[in-house]
Amino acid sequence: MPDAESPRVAYFSMEIALDAGIPTYSGGLGMLAGDTLRSAADLAVPMVAVTLLYRRGYFHQRLDARGQQTEEPTVWRVEDRLEPLRARASVEIAGRTVHLGVWRYTIQGAGGAALPVYLLDADRPENDPDDRALTAELYGGDARHRLAQEIILGIGGVRMLRALGHEGLGTFHMNEGHAALIAVALLDEMEASGGGEAATASATLKAELLAALRERCVFTTHTPVPAGHDRFPADLVERLLTPAWKARLAMCGQVDGLNMTQLAIAVSRFVNGVALKHGEVSRAMFPGVDVRSITNGVHAATWASPPFQRLFDKWAPGWRLDNAALRNIIGAHGDEVWTAHLEAKQSLVEFLGERGHAGFDRDALTLVWARRATGYKRPQLIFESLERLKSMTRYIGPLQIIFAGKAHPRDEEGKGLIRSIHEVAGQLRGKVPVAYIENYDMAVAQKLVAGADVWVNTPRPPMEASGTSGMKAAMNGVPSLSVLDGWWIEGHIEGATGWAVGEYVADDENPENDRKVAHALYEKLAKVVLPCYFKDREEFIAIMRRTVAFSGSFFNTHRMVEEYLVNAYRLQGGWRPRSEPAKPE
Ligand SMILES: *Cc1c(COP(=O)(O)O)cnc(C)c1O
Repeated sequence: MPDAESPRVAYFSMEIALDAGIPTYSGGLGMLAGDTLRSAADLAVPMVAVTLLYRRGYFHQRLDARGQQTEEPTVWRVEDRLEPLRARASVEIAGRTVHLGVWRYTIQGAGGAALPVYLLDADRPENDPDDRALTAELYGGDARHRLAQEIILGIGGVRMLRALGHEGLGTFHMNEGHAALIAVALLDEMEASGGGEAATASATLKAELLAALRERCVFTTHTPVPAGHDRFPADLVERLLTPAWKARLAMCGQVDGLNMTQLAIAVSRFVNGVALKHGEVSRAMFPGVDVRSITNGVHAATWASPPFQRLFDKWAPGWRLDNAALRNIIGAHGDEVWTAHLEAKQSLVEFLGERGHAGFDRDALTLVWARRATGYKRPQLIFESLERLKSMTRYIGPLQIIFAGKAHPRDEEGKGLIRSIHEVAGQLRGKVPVAYIENYDMAVAQKLVAGADVWVNTPRPPMEASGTSGMKAAMNGVPSLSVLDGWWIEGHIEGATGWAVGEYVADDENPENDRKVAHALYEKLAKVVLPCYFKDREEFIAIMRRTVAFSGSFFNTHRMVEEYLVNAYRLQGGWRPRSEPAKPE
């Protein structure tokens, strides 16, 4: 039995957003991983995490005046941010040994616990020059590169944990299918400890091995569409993996090529989607698989702005360890909430100025749309009728709109959307200021979620598995105006935590639907949101309070990690601190 201090859960993720200065993430998946680990550290969960190093990070987005995106490598000084460790491991890829080094980032929890994150590094002098580049970039390269990275993450990751002396790990959590090759590494270990040779084992022995493997693995799927799941063709698998590993994959049902999601499902005792709706969609996508739901959250102390943190300290003491205390914000004084919000909004306006976007105003209603720029997220929906936008500004009050988001380098549609938003911004100049902020990342997100008045989201259902940026906004009292999909189906309380755009309908990508949704968006804006903001400020502030009290107290990673502890990890964790009720003044 491991002692209470030694880590018992190993969390594997292709990307983790550790810090605004460490570009080892691209978006939502990495941000969720980072917030998960920050909460696990706060709650003293005995956990370690594994990811890849990415010396060149994810790309830095440049936008020219017309909104044409170009991608530049991100430069960061690994040595300044991470601690090199002596442990070494290796994996075999396409017949060559790839030696791995490792760096450590330590997350300090609010209660004093430390959680180590290990970043695997193939850039070692003893490696073939091609192999040295394998951990250089996140989501760069072709399918071969990607499979090689997943071998390093899954198999290299397990081996490295052993080299680091982590023996007491009972649960291996795969955050998305990228890490599913941990199954191969764990079967290797079972065989070495007398489990029998997988390739020649009897059917009974194979079933026993698989059952033992399933006892140790947990899988979170994040992708509500079949095309989003990682798949590798048979010839690639043939070239890259050793015969012994292929035999293990066959044991897990992967014979003709490799489907990482199916592999992860086959070897896991617990599988979950990231919102109630996403669990349902996943059960339909994987018939016969008992996919549960654990709804995502965000790390409160990472996403609440400094003025909101001060507000929480006063009205919800203890909130850093006990996010449920945020319900006490329901009693905060309206003028204090508004002052804190204006401070965050002022800071956003100044930030816009520094980034070359003049003409933004602290008194205009500020709508923000920020997330990956891609077709199904429909960033252009709000521009369906420029006349309606202009007329709202004319008759009710000034409106301004801020966008941010990178398009994946190979997503031409996403890049086109960014250009068309720039074009519309030109048409609206002088009427409705529109800015597109370059290089959306953690630091930009922190400014936006705090300084927005209303957080807008217009995905095409059911493509938004969860979505987390609306939860970050909620941590700052910022209500959402969103299509019902992902987390918002659960988080939406009309007029209390924000507003729904239309009703939930699984959409089928037709322009007529888009027009209907845009119409519903304008109706809500013109008849409810703008009048509330400009004519009933008291009520708007009351909505901000309810947003923190209802959404902030629930859609946080503390609550989420606790659900994982009980349902997925079968751990109770340590003592869960419960704060005293607030006694302000
Ligand atoms: C939170 C976040 C995301 C994910 O936002 P969604 O609403 O889930 O799409 C992406 N990128 C950055 C930089 C973020 O902070």
